[in-house]
Amino acid sequence: MSTHTPKKYEFQAEISQLLDIVTHSLYTEKEIFIRELVSNASDALEKLRHTQLTEKEIFDDQATLEINVTTDDKAKTITIQDFGVGMTRAELVENLGTIAHSGSKAFLKALGEGAAKNTNLIGQFGVGFYSAFMVAKSVKVHSRSWQKDEPGHVWTSDGSGSYEIEESDDERRGTKIVLTLKDDASDYATDWKVKEVLERYSAFVSFPINLNGKHVNTIQALWLRNKNEIKDEEYTAFYKFQAHAFDEPRSRLHFSADAPLAINALLFVPKENTEKLGFARLEPSVSLYCRKVMIEAKPKHLLPEWLRFLKGVVDSEDLPLNISRESMQDKALIDKLSKVITKRFLKSLEEEAEKRLDAYNEFYGEFGIFLKEGAAMDYTHKDQIVKLLRFESSLTEKGKTTSLADYVSRMGSEQKEIYYLVGPSRAAIESGPYLEGFKARNLEVLFCYEAVDEYVMNNVREFDGKKLTGADHSDVKLSDLPKPEGGLTEDQTKELAKWLKDTLGERVAEVKASDRLVDSPVLALNADKFMSPHMRRMMKAMNKDGGESPLRVNLEINPRHAVLTHLHALHTGNPDKAKLVAEQLLDNALISAGLLDDATAMVARLNKLLESV
Ligand code: ADP
Ligand code: MG
Repeated sequence: MSTHTPKKYEFQAEISQLLDIVTHSLYTEKEIFIRELVSNASDALEKLRHTQLTEKEIFDDQATLEINVTTDDKAKTITIQDFGVGMTRAELVENLGTIAHSGSKAFLKALGEGAAKNTNLIGQFGVGFYSAFMVAKSVKVHSRSWQKDEPGHVWTSDGSGSYEIEESDDERRGTKIVLTLKDDASDYATDWKVKEVLERYSAFVSFPINLNGKHVNTIQALWLRNKNEIKDEEYTAFYKFQAHAFDEPRSRLHFSADAPLAINALLFVPKENTEKLGFARLEPSVSLYCRKVMIEAKPKHLLPEWLRFLKGVVDSEDLPLNISRESMQDKALIDKLSKVITKRFLKSLEEEAEKRLDAYNEFYGEFGIFLKEGAAMDYTHKDQIVKLLRFESSLTEKGKTTSLADYVSRMGSEQKEIYYLVGPSRAAIESGPYLEGFKARNLEVLFCYEAVDEYVMNNVREFDGKKLTGADHSDVKLSDLPKPEGGLTEDQTKELAKWLKDTLGERVAEVKASDRLVDSPVLALNADKFMSPHMRRMMKAMNKDGGESPLRVNLEINPRHAVLTHLHALHTGNPDKAKLVAEQLLDNALISAGLLDDATAMVARLNKLLESV
């Protein structure tokens, strides 16, 4: 039996890279290693509690579910011990030698995404277990699994390329991590320093923590307490602890319900939307508890996908304690829970929009994109979410928004649809040709500036029984306006339209007098009514089918515009020049629609036209 001889292993390349960054980092808040190791100990205890529910035989079953921290300022060590699930040899290799787990993976990903060697990231992601190497010159992990037949092991490393594992005779279940501190980190071998750090980070760990034999944390299931007795600072501290957050929460929702399920929930909206800042897609992270016992830290299906920005805790007494962590099998129950919480959260947003408009607008500016996602994809809550959407419009001031309900309240009795235009900015939409026909008829048009808006509007389809319609869609019918004086006669218009169709050939499907133009000479409508100009642009950007098909548009002309009256005279007098003008007009219309892909031919033509000025 030579199992007691140490065996040497190499770290996986990514881990070596990570360790290199961590050990050489100048990150000043090195103390976070305590938070990381304590939270791992707490996770291991939590896992044990669950294992106890399903397994009969557990090694060292009498061990208390607690965490012991001890310091030795002579030996310059700090030791963190838990009686949790422990690790087998294979698990030591897998968990501490490879990048299979969450925290560090996210860290490396963020580094890869161009965040450079930003040492702040260490604080943001924690880098988990490896943060020990910020302060330790050597780390020993004694671990023994809960499984009866597995022996204990000691894992040792100095944080350079390799580690060793040796079998040991440990008689206690769980994990004991001994850090021999670097000279500049020897403070962490003193009772006072560690006490201070533990108090800061570990108030909400739901297992007792003892420092050198003295109990330091008071267990607080904040969400179960009466909200009138909780101070703002306590909420903030809980948010920071629970969400591993560094910001202050933007808002919170603390509520309990009895029917249809007994629920205590404490939800937070963070200050910032990190997805918007270009960080990775958020993972759902509202934790699920049953009577203070964590069932799952990051359940995927507890809340709808679009609520992935929420943090906090949902505790329901009605959940069976042994509900499987992996699958949360009781889907019907989880669905019910999901609906109650989502409805309640949406209601709190409605209230905010009503009573604290500025706060709501700030929230919307940051997280509105998630509401749009919900409106488009979450059929169950769509109606409630759509009410919360806000847009600028042709009747609001710049920067001010309206809800769909307010839009509808302003609609005249003859207006049947809700109109919108998609464009990069207010200025772009206002100076384009599409709005003027609506303005002339006093029809309000919503302005949509975000790339997803077209998709959202298409999916939402209607509000309050009124269809959402793109003001640049070819099938919009507008009422007749009194015809202003001047311009081409009806016959002249027809003649010019026919000539334009013949001259422009395949590039246009149809040419006709417009009922929407007031100040602009022409506008282009996509002949394919299922694909708006904006949609086409998006398809092209995504390189999907459709973006590259030959473009044919319907051209609408304004018979009262001077350019058209001149063109009418020119097409018989100087057909060559008239042809250049016609082509230029079409290109102008395409530019306004965002449909001109290549401007080279247009510039050459324009130069030719300028020669004759
Ligand atoms: P994370 O906690 O995000 O998974 P860590 O780097 O903190 O990442 O830990 C890596 C893994 O090592 C954990 O997922 C867990 O499986 C294992 N581990 C760490 N500490 C302990 C411990 N005290 N008891 C049991 N397993 C542990
Ligand atoms: Mg961890």
